[in-house]
Amino acid sequence: MSHTVKPHLDSHMLPVFARADVAFERGEGPWLIATNGDRYLDFTSGVAVNALGHAHPHLVAALQEQTAKLWHVSNLFTIPEGERLATRLCDESFADVAFFCNSGAEAMEAAIKMARKFQAVNGHPERYRLITFEGAFHGRTLATLAAGGQQKYLEGFGPRVDGFDQVPLGDLEAVKKAIGPHTAGILIEPWQGEGGVRAADPSFFRALRQLCDDNKLVLVFDEVQTGMGRIGTLFAYEKTGVTPDIMALAKALGGGFPMGACLATVAAAAGMTPGTHGSTFGGNLLAAAAGNATLDVMLKPGFFEHVQKMSLLLKQKLASVVDRYPNVVNEVRGDGLLIGVKAVVPAGDVISALRDEKLLTVAAGDNVVRFLPPLIVGETEIEDAVTRLERACARLARTSAQSEAV
Ligand SMILES: *Cc1c(COP(=O)(O)O)cnc(C)c1O
Repeated sequence: MSHTVKPHLDSHMLPVFARADVAFERGEGPWLIATNGDRYLDFTSGVAVNALGHAHPHLVAALQEQTAKLWHVSNLFTIPEGERLATRLCDESFADVAFFCNSGAEAMEAAIKMARKFQAVNGHPERYRLITFEGAFHGRTLATLAAGGQQKYLEGFGPRVDGFDQVPLGDLEAVKKAIGPHTAGILIEPWQGEGGVRAADPSFFRALRQLCDDNKLVLVFDEVQTGMGRIGTLFAYEKTGVTPDIMALAKALGGGFPMGACLATVAAAAGMTPGTHGSTFGGNLLAAAAGNATLDVMLKPGFFEHVQKMSLLLKQKLASVVDRYPNVVNEVRGDGLLIGVKAVVPAGDVISALRDEKLLTVAAGDNVVRFLPPLIVGETEIEDAVTRLERACARLARTSAQSEAV
């Protein structure tokens, strides 16, 4: 396995990402400024991470202040800013306790472990399996990949972690059939983000809650993408009409600073005693400062009204583009500012045509283009983005008409 002559490589980064050939050096709210000076309208928000846009003055100030004081002490010690963030997240949600980590996959690992441990400490160590849904995405660790169940991501990585039973999204009968003596709980995203901006009806969520209550199962929500305002409320579960027992958060939690959290009721977290779980970096002082600063902004009166207003505007405008270019795009889905446009042509063609128009968007499953503007986006920028989309669609419609004529 060793070699004496090193190969010449254009990049020394492990090539697991198909990166676009553009780099940015600065950000201002919803704008990204490339190294060559070009200005891009950023409707990726770093994949639903930069909820407050780039270089938000309140976040910048909070991080600058904390950076000069103390970065990291480890979880050997009390972290007052972390305590404060946990209290605020619990005050704003169903939860009683929060565990901090550094990413979505880690938040999900904590959630999976907690669900299993809950059953174990309640006399049912044999109940370790979680029911999950087709199209789900829960992360890239071995367990979260098994939970997501996407064959293309599991291929070649050895035996799949045991403990997940996948059923079609929205299929209540399949869920009932999947419940057995080894079932610990049900794991679902309120909206599937990576899976193509898809959700089950509120009635499905109510039925899942009932099934969990009747069978003493835990209901786990993966709100890594939907949480922290993306759906127009602080947490998406608020819109489903039910509360989970355990919830994973990450993406927007630190406003761009890497941070994840697993929130739970005290009952669901019963087994998580000292030594049962941990993280070296989780919830360090920089992360806690970023999380508190993000909440400061989101909890200001009117923040979510603004998100909902922008959501309506974006959805209306996108619908009119769909009407005019049915050969390029044919459906608008989503809620809040997690919006998907289903493409007729390959979604990748739409995304690169949009990038040529200096509008950045993200691919999702089911041939969907995701529009994930920062939650602070304004009317002008939404109108600007839709104009760029129209130009891209007009170009793609001409190209596809030409190729059909040939
Ligand atoms: C992004 C995402 C994850 C994984 O988060 P990482 O920070 O990339 O580990 C898990 N679940 C959902 C729903 C996500 O959108």
